[in-house]
Amino acid sequence: MGAPHPFTGAADVAHFIAGRIVSAEGARKQAIFNPATGAVSRQVELADAAQVNAAVAAAHAAFPKWADMPPVRRARVMFKFLDLLNQHRDTLAAMITAEHGKVFTDAQGEVTRGIEIVEFACGIAQLLKGDYTEQVSTGIDNWTMRQPLGVVAGVTPFNFPCMVPMWMFPVAIAAGNTFVLKPSPLDPSPSLLMAELLKLAGLPDGVFNVVQGDKVAVDALLANPDVKAISFVGSTPVAHHIAQEAARQGKRVQALGGAKNHMVVMPDADLDQVVDALIGSAFGSAGERCMAISVGVLVGDVAEKILPRLVERTQALKVKNGMELDAEMGPIVTEAARERITGLIDSGVQQGAKLLVDGRGLAVPGHEKGFWIGGTVFDQVMPDMRIYQEEIFGPVLSCVRVPDFSSALDLVNAHAYGNGVACFTRDGHVAREFGRRVQAGMVGINVPIPVPMAWHGFGGWKASLFGDMHAYGEEGVRFYTKQKSIMQRWPESTPKGAEFVMPTSK
Ligand code: NAD
Repeated sequence: MGAPHPFTGAADVAHFIAGRIVSAEGARKQAIFNPATGAVSRQVELADAAQVNAAVAAAHAAFPKWADMPPVRRARVMFKFLDLLNQHRDTLAAMITAEHGKVFTDAQGEVTRGIEIVEFACGIAQLLKGDYTEQVSTGIDNWTMRQPLGVVAGVTPFNFPCMVPMWMFPVAIAAGNTFVLKPSPLDPSPSLLMAELLKLAGLPDGVFNVVQGDKVAVDALLANPDVKAISFVGSTPVAHHIAQEAARQGKRVQALGGAKNHMVVMPDADLDQVVDALIGSAFGSAGERCMAISVGVLVGDVAEKILPRLVERTQALKVKNGMELDAEMGPIVTEAARERITGLIDSGVQQGAKLLVDGRGLAVPGHEKGFWIGGTVFDQVMPDMRIYQEEIFGPVLSCVRVPDFSSALDLVNAHAYGNGVACFTRDGHVAREFGRRVQAGMVGINVPIPVPMAWHGFGGWKASLFGDMHAYGEEGVRFYTKQKSIMQRWPESTPKGAEFVMPTSK
């Protein structure tokens, strides 16, 4: 058993239901590790269906009053939450580093990107404004309004334990819904601190609930008829399952899946910038980002020019405990993930890719039991290799050589995933063609990780997203609300008789 939770004081990480921490006798539990040391820090309880249903019931009970509160007053709670988040940003970031492993400054960046969604949600009164047409027919006006759905749920991955939940709940709650969050059991602690901060901000009990758990909890959310919508972010097989099952249950769903993000490097690009961009975007957060660049598409003679520099920079990466201030890359989240990534590197070697830098078996002095892999670079990767086709979700950069722009574009567009993509060039025409023709949801031109800002919305294409709407931004507001159209007439007192033809404008 580890030290008590820094904020809740509890030894284990439990649930947050109807405004208080709830723990169950005899619950199933899972160990939480510090990936840098390999030590167990505490346990997380795994909810059964009864606990999930209790959380949904709490959210259901809180919904009518919360939905009826004027948006501007809901926004005031968000403003207070924003203030508290800013005060606790470093505590949240340290929690992330302790359970995920990413370096502290990167964790601070994650919290900041989440905070930006809260800033967006503070404008909910403006975002919920409807449309109005006066005199659609003589004496009749028509307007639209957007109303909340009810209880909505979020199921989130391990790799952004603060930011990804904040892609969801600030917009959902500000729009008048109540929320049940099911975080990843690998790094569940930030979810409880966010719940406590929402309570301190004045959020009524039951509006935001957290159930810790695994597939059992997710299945219970899917089966509960009071859950009207599910936002999911995680791997593609689970995203696909959740999208299908939620649709079968008549729920609204957005399910964001995995990725294999390519960066096309044209020979005219600024190659100093390219090397910086590839190193940062392939190895930041140990490649455990859905927007990490995992494939370098090197056009023409780019490979000869940049590979020696990439090798040198990869070998010099400072891979350390993320709390050390000069760390550039931390450990992998779990031993199992490290083994999976190592196995994929093995497969790349077996299938004939050229391993330029091998991160397998890295030892970090003083942290011998941590889950380490160093930066890894492959050259001459072919499209039929597993390291090209599969999402590795680790610090592995696979370089593919292509002769020209059009083969680069064909390669990217043939891939099953379409989350993020980047093109580095100085040619405006190439950049424009790339932006128009590439089959991906988020495109960077000389920007390696084009994560859209809070008011633009986040989402991929192809196997990277199931459902219609992207996360946060105005798409998020639409996802968490349903449109109602009201047509109104205040008739003169003279009766005109019944009408039997389709109403048209008169
Ligand atoms: P994961 O799919 O294993 O888990 C995601 C969530 O689903 C967790 O809460 C987990 O407990 C739950 N879950 C796992 N298996 C389940 C099952 N069989 N049924 C129901 N629920 C289940 O993903 P992860 O390993 O936590 O996160 C990494 C993945 O997330 C990567 O594939 C990454 O690309 C993806 N991701 C995508 C985006 C995006 O925006 N597209 C963002 C972040 C992460």
